Amino acid sequence: MIIQPKIRGFICTTSHPDGCEANVREQVAYVKSKGEISDGPKRVLVLGSSTGYGLSSRIVPAFGCGASTIGVFFEKEGTDRKPGTAGWYNAVAFEKVANEQGLYAKSFNGDAFGHEMKKTVIDTIKEDLGQVDMVIYSLASPRRNDPDTGEAYRSVLKPIGHSYTNKNLNTDKAEIEEITIEAASEEEIDQTVKVMGGEDWKLWIDAMADAGVLADGFETVAYSYIGPELTWAIYTEGTIGGAKLHLEETAKAMNARFGDGTAVVSVNKALVTQASSAIPVVPLYISLLYKVMKEKGTHEGTIEQIQRLFADHLCAENGPTLDDKGRIRVDDWEMTEDVQAAVAEVWPRVTSENLMDVSDFGGYQKEFLKLFGFGVDGVDYAADTEAERPMPSA
Ligand code: NAD
Repeated sequence: MIIQPKIRGFICTTSHPDGCEANVREQVAYVKSKGEISDGPKRVLVLGSSTGYGLSSRIVPAFGCGASTIGVFFEKEGTDRKPGTAGWYNAVAFEKVANEQGLYAKSFNGDAFGHEMKKTVIDTIKEDLGQVDMVIYSLASPRRNDPDTGEAYRSVLKPIGHSYTNKNLNTDKAEIEEITIEAASEEEIDQTVKVMGGEDWKLWIDAMADAGVLADGFETVAYSYIGPELTWAIYTEGTIGGAKLHLEETAKAMNARFGDGTAVVSVNKALVTQASSAIPVVPLYISLLYKVMKEKGTHEGTIEQIQRLFADHLCAENGPTLDDKGRIRVDDWEMTEDVQAAVAEVWPRVTSENLMDVSDFGGYQKEFLKLFGFGVDGVDYAADTEAERPMPSA
């Protein structure tokens, strides 16, 4: 079929398998261009491995360290009548390229929050790899069902304690508008922690430890975000920030059980992903940030961020460099004073009329389409393509 983008709000409902494969190959080529990362993990489990930070977190250990990888995600497979999700095609492409280069790769599509997926993955590790050296937790989801009670929890992106009004970019209409978000209820605050906090991360690590599939000295990493003061009310000090605090507390509890340096939270840069495009205010901040960082030559995508995370921190001879709260900061270049001052200077004067001049919204739009495999150089979008792409390891 011929596949074209169909954008609905902050989601694109179609995706292009060949574009997704080209994206994966581009990330692999970047990692290879940086050379081998010494002392890297050799057996890695990545939870949320199909898109965004998780996809790059699978590509870096595989192609930078020669690691065998298992990936878990929640995606839709394409059929001969309907394209699948980008994450499905990314995972298929990942396995294809890994196989071409003689690397072990298996992928599991389903609910990572459930007991069943944990059991399937643990059984596979036992059978194929024995143990893993690293577990990367990169799930981003709007909902989670408690695996014991079946109760459904939903995460919300709301401020805590007071309503919040700020500029917002309507990415559909390319217009700046004002947005007011009401404060979250106690129930919403708790539910967001249930979905995006560390509870499920801990369930994975506990289940794997009990099953004996974690190697001595294993490491586990989860991702967080801080960002500038202008988004704190909606992010860091909002419901999602509460969940991220819980993630950090979970890391501390894991270190108490398994030893210091086992679990770490890495604070990453704001980037266009399927998860971040759903957060109010953040797409405008990203559009301004991209312009400033591209001009300074410090702009990075997920692959550059995660390559740096592995090379400079996780696999560094003296271990990771941590901030005063025990976190890795690969958001360091985003948070430099000059970058933040430049964004803060433009923020009050950005309008619908000057959006394209003072921000990199053009770059944002390109990146957004690229997430779904569109607008990728070398891909013929007028050509017929096969939407049904089976997982090589299935
Ligand atoms: P993303 O939407 O690109 O990826 C989410 C992944 O989770 C996908 O692989 C998806 O299939 C998987 N997933 C969702 N629900 C699942 C389920 N029930 N079972 C199995 N898999 C499931 O998101 P992202 O932006 O890469 O976010 C990953 C992490 O990075 C999050 O913790 C996020 O807060 C953090 N982070 C993101 C940014 C950013 O700007 N995007 C910045 C810093 C930190």
